[in-house]
Amino acid sequence: MIPAPFDYHRPRTLDEAIALLAAHDEAARVVAGGHSLIPMMKLRLAAPEHLIDLQDLAELRRIGADGQVLVIGAMTTQQELIASALLAAKCPILRETALQIADPQVRALGTIGGNVANGDPGNDMPAVMMALDARYRLKGPRGEREVAARDFYLGSFDTALKPGEILTQIIIPTPPDGHGFAYEKQKRKIGDYATAAAAVILTVAQGRCSAAAVALTNVAPTPLFVAASGQALVGTRFETSAVAEAVRHATTLAHPAADQRGPAEFRTHVAGVMVRRAIERAKARAA
Ligand SMILES: Cc1cc2nc3c(=O)[nH]c(=O)nc-3n(C[C@H](O)[C@H](O)[C@H](O)COP(=O)(O)OP(=O)(O)OC[C@H]3O[C@@H](n4cnc5c(N)ncnc54)[C@H](O)[C@@H]3O)c2cc1C
Repeated sequence: MIPAPFDYHRPRTLDEAIALLAAHDEAARVVAGGHSLIPMMKLRLAAPEHLIDLQDLAELRRIGADGQVLVIGAMTTQQELIASALLAAKCPILRETALQIADPQVRALGTIGGNVANGDPGNDMPAVMMALDARYRLKGPRGEREVAARDFYLGSFDTALKPGEILTQIIIPTPPDGHGFAYEKQKRKIGDYATAAAAVILTVAQGRCSAAAVALTNVAPTPLFVAASGQALVGTRFETSAVAEAVRHATTLAHPAADQRGPAEFRTHVAGVMVRRAIERAKARAA
């Protein structure tokens, strides 16, 4: 339970952090809240020789609205997401999801950037970002680029982040006023990762679904965006058959491993239940 030795660096600016990462190359990792990385270092599943702490980078801590998008700095903590009046008004699924992550101690330090950059299929925010069609802004020695959340996750702990890059911001198209939303998570106890979870964002016009996005947590090596589930709902009045079709697409795509949370068949079934509940709750909330 004692990590391998490492050198600790505490840059004051983003450019300094990027230069440090470039200088130490594959031997370096950034640390944000440390609530995923430090446990992995203690278990010796990660052994960076240089740890670059991002906590002094105030420039990565902003929550704001910029035209038609919401912009969240990567170092924003889960607790700061929960407390944000702007996000509660404009994108309440973030608060709903953050409240289901771990416990208050973890949420006080764990960051949104660490949660989405980590690449652990158990993290809750990546599926939500897929449902919201968020983009991640990355900065490295060769400049800045953006990657859609739906394209970012390549495998378990494998993402589109290139060596030397830091996630700086998450950019979310502001959902329309009156949209429906829900994050439904089945877990064994408070503080546990999901047995399965589902994020749903939708809009309703004159009783019909006019747009819908569905994504899943912890039922595959990556979070899953289930385009076909959304398509199954659009144009319908959420008839039983349409919801069943959306659930069927999600459970077809899910392929969880058996683990201490249950056999694969059970976790796939739970994914379907979470999708159904999330659709129902999102529909009830849509204006
Ligand atoms: C008891 C416990 C229960 C938990 N339960 C849940 C849960 O139910 N759901 C859930 O989603 N999470 C859970 N977590 C994880 C928690 O949410 C972490 O805080 C989160 O996964 C990582 O955020 P962090 O800021 O702590 O990142 P860190 O641990 O500091 O970093 C995680 C990884 O992301 C990289 N990274 C961090 N920031 C950046 C960046 N800006 N750019 C590029 N790479 C970056 C790091 O190099 C590292 O590889 C739990 C943790 C604990 C300890």
